[in-house]
Amino acid sequence: MSRGFYSYSLVTLIAITVVTVGLTVALAIFSARSTALEMTDNRLASAHEMTRALLAVRNDLLRETALSLSLDPRVANALRSSDPAQIGGVLALHGNAMVQAIILFVNEDGSVRAHTGPRGVARQLDPQLLYATDTANFLSLGEQVHQVSFAPLRANRDSSWVGVAVPLDREFLGRVRSTTGVDIAIGLSGSSVATSTVLGEKLPSDRKLNVVLDQQGGSLTLAYSLPTQEALREFRGFASRLAAIGFAVSALAIFFGALVLGGIASRLVTRPVRMLRDGVERVRKGVYGEPVTIAGDDGLARMARAFNEMQAEIAERESRIVHHAEYDSLTGLTNRTVVADRLKALLGRTSRNGSTAAAMVIDIERFGDINGNLGNEIGDAVLQEVARRLASNTRATDLLARVGGDEFLIVVEDMEERLAVHISQFLAETLEKPIEVKGRAVNLRVHIGTAMYPHHSDSPEGLRRLSNVALVTAKETAQRVVMYEPGQDERHLRELAVLNDLDEAIKNGDLFLKYQPKIEMKTRNVDSVEALVRWQHPQLGLIPPDEFIGLLEENNKIHKLTDWVLKTAVAQVRDWTGKGFDLSVAVNISANDLLDLGLSQRIGNLLHHYLVDPKRLVVEVTESAVMQDPEQASRVLQTLRELGIKVSIDDFGTGQTSLSLLKKLPLNELKIDQSFVRNLRADSGDGIIIKSTVDLGHNMGLLVVAEGVENTYAWNLLKSYGCDSVQGYLIAKPLSSIELEAWYLKLQARNSSKLDLAFVDSQAAEQPSSKPEPQPRPETDILSEILGG
Ligand code: C2E
Ligand code: CA
Ligand code: CA
Repeated sequence: MSRGFYSYSLVTLIAITVVTVGLTVALAIFSARSTALEMTDNRLASAHEMTRALLAVRNDLLRETALSLSLDPRVANALRSSDPAQIGGVLALHGNAMVQAIILFVNEDGSVRAHTGPRGVARQLDPQLLYATDTANFLSLGEQVHQVSFAPLRANRDSSWVGVAVPLDREFLGRVRSTTGVDIAIGLSGSSVATSTVLGEKLPSDRKLNVVLDQQGGSLTLAYSLPTQEALREFRGFASRLAAIGFAVSALAIFFGALVLGGIASRLVTRPVRMLRDGVERVRKGVYGEPVTIAGDDGLARMARAFNEMQAEIAERESRIVHHAEYDSLTGLTNRTVVADRLKALLGRTSRNGSTAAAMVIDIERFGDINGNLGNEIGDAVLQEVARRLASNTRATDLLARVGGDEFLIVVEDMEERLAVHISQFLAETLEKPIEVKGRAVNLRVHIGTAMYPHHSDSPEGLRRLSNVALVTAKETAQRVVMYEPGQDERHLRELAVLNDLDEAIKNGDLFLKYQPKIEMKTRNVDSVEALVRWQHPQLGLIPPDEFIGLLEENNKIHKLTDWVLKTAVAQVRDWTGKGFDLSVAVNISANDLLDLGLSQRIGNLLHHYLVDPKRLVVEVTESAVMQDPEQASRVLQTLRELGIKVSIDDFGTGQTSLSLLKKLPLNELKIDQSFVRNLRADSGDGIIIKSTVDLGHNMGLLVVAEGVENTYAWNLLKSYGCDSVQGYLIAKPLSSIELEAWYLKLQARNSSKLDLAFVDSQAAEQPSSKPEPQPRPETDILSEILGG
C-alpha cells in the first residue's frame, strides 16, 4: 500500500461523497419540487373553493336583492307602467345601492322587458334561469359575465321577473387572486365573453385547474393558474440552500476524509518506508534473515521485493565468502583462520558448563613423501579421506579443523583425560587403516598430541601450544599418541631455544669442550682425552650434551656441532703438541655424521690445516649409530681409517651389533658402555659381561676401554680382566683444557713416583655446571696404591 493507494482512495472518497451528497440533494430537490407543485395544485383548488364561496355569498345577496325588489310596489308599478323613465327611477333607486348591478325585468319566456344596463345589453334570456335561484347563475351582459338571480314579481298578475346581475369582473377575480395568488380566468359557454386576472386574458398554461360550473342552458368555465415560476420560487431558494448545504457537506466530508485517508495513507506509506529503512539497517549490521513484507504491487512493494532479493543475494554471497573464509576448500573442515575464534567459543562454553575439553593435534608422518612420491592428487585425496574419517568420529559440537598442510585439530567437549587418551588412540588407529586411492593402498603413520582444558591450560592459545608440545614429544619419541605432561612445555621451549640458538652459540663462544682423560692400565699413562662438548647458554644456563645432541641429530643440525667440535679439538691437540703434551683426542661423532661421505674429506683438511698427525685423532661412534646404516657407516669409517684416524666403538654392549658386522668394521678400539662399569660391585653380575667383552675385543685385535670407572673395585676387576684402558670419575672428570693441562703436568711430575688421591681430589671441582659432574668417591688408599704402584 502506498501513494497509489492514497490517490485511488482519495478519488474514490470524492466520488462517493459527491455521488451520495449529490443524489441526496437531487432527491431532496426533486421531492421538494413535487411537494411545491402539489402545494400549487392545492392552492389552485383552494382558489376555486374561495371563488365558489364568494359566488355563493354573492348568489344569496343577489337573491335577497331580487326578492326585495320584487316586493317593492314601486318597482312593480314602475314595471307595470312600462315607462322607462319610471322604471329607470325605481331601478336607479335600488341600483344606487348596488353600484355595478344591473336590474332586469324579464317576461316569463325570458324576453327582457327592461334593464338598467347599457343599451342593448340583453334581449332574450334562457327562461330556465328564472327558476334556478339556489345556484349561482351566470349570463353574459355586454362585455362581461354576470352573476344573476331572479325573483318573480308577486304583485304583478302577468308573471314577470325581476333579476339582479353583478359582473364577475376583474375586481372580483382580483380579490381571489390577491388572497390566493392564483390567476383566474372565466368564460361562459356559448359566449365569447371572458374575464381574466391576466392581461390579454390568456392564462399561463403550465399549472392549471379548470372547473366547469354547469347551469341551465350553459356552463361557466373557471380556469385557475399559478405560474410554475412562482410556484417554484420558494422551492428554488430551498433547492439552492440545499445544494449549498450539500456542497458544504461534500467539501467537509472530502476534507476530513482526505485528512483521515492521508493519515492512513501516510501511515501506509511511512510504515513501509520505515520497514525498508529498518531492513537496510539490519543488512548493514549483517542480519539477513528477515525479509521486508510490503503487500501490493506499487512502488514500495516492488522496492521491498527487490530489497529482499538483494538481501538474499547478499546473504548467499556472504555465506559463500564466509564459507570460503572459514572452511578449508580441500577438506571442508574449519580452516586455520577462524580456528582461534571457534576454539575460544568452545572453551567458553566448556568453562560455563564447568566441564573439561581435550585438544588433539594430529600430524601425518612424512606426508611430504606421499605428495612427493605419489603426486599431489593422491596427497589431496588422502587428506580428504583423513578429514572424512575424523569427521565421522567426532560430534557436531566438536571443533574439527585443518590447521596445517597435514595437521588437524580436534577439540572435544566434555572429555576427561583418560577417555581422551583412548579416543586419540582410537583416532590414530582409524587413520592408520589403509586408505584406498586410485587402486593404491596408502598406509599412514600419525602422531597425536593432546592437552586438556583447563587442567593443562585455561587459555585457547596455551591449550594449542601444549597439544603441539605433546605432538612434538610424540614425534620425537615415535609414539602414536602423547598426552601432555606438565613440564613438557618447558622442555619443548628449551628444545626450540636450543635448536634456534646453535649458530649463535658457535659464533658467541657459548660452546666449549671438556676433556676427560683415559688411562692405560698397565703404564698408568694418559695418552688420550675424550672431548665432551658443553653449552653455556646465556638464558638457559649450562646445557648438558645429552639434551642437545639428540635434538640436533633429529633436526639434522649435528654436523654443524661435529664440525665445531672437530675443529676445536684438533686445534687443541695442535696447541698441546706445541706445548709438548703427548695427547690424542677422541671426538664423538653421531649417526648422521656417519652418513656424510664428505666427513673424512673435511677431517683430512682440518688435520692438514692444523698440522696434526691423524694418529692423534680418535673418532668415537656408537654401536647404534653404526647400526642405522652399517654399509654406509662402514664406508665412511674406512675412509677415516685410510687417513690414519683411529676408530673407537662407543657404548659397546648396548646395541645389537652382530659379530660378523663388527668384524667387517675398521675399528681400533672398543669402549665398554659405562652402564656395565659404573655400578660394578662384588655382588653384581656385570663382571661376566665385561670379561667376555674384553676377551671379544682382544680376539678381534682391538684395544678394550672401560668407561664410567668410578671405584677401585671396578679398577681392580677390569685390571684382572686385562682391560687395556679406563676412563671415569675415579681418574678424572671431564676437565677444561686449562684444568687438564694442570692435571696432566702434575701427573707427569709424579708419574715416576706416585699418584696419590690428594692429586685426584684436587681435580674434583669442574665449573660451572648446572648439572655438576658427580663427585668421584674417595677411595684414597686403593687408588693411590693403583696409580702409585
Ligand atoms: P659418552 O660418549 O659415553 O661420554 C661419556 C659420558 O660419560 C660423558 O658424559 C661423561 O661426563 C660421562 N662420564 C665419564 N666418566 C664417568 C663416570 O665415572 N661416571 C659417570 N656416571 N659418568 C661418567 P657427557 O659429557 O654428559 O656426555 C654424554 C654423552 O654426550 C656422551 O656420551 C656422548 O655420547 C655425547 N657427547 C658428548 N660430547 C659430544 C660431542 O662433542 N659430540 C657428540 N656427537 N656427542 C657428544
Ligand atoms: Ca664417547
Ligand atoms: Ca660412551
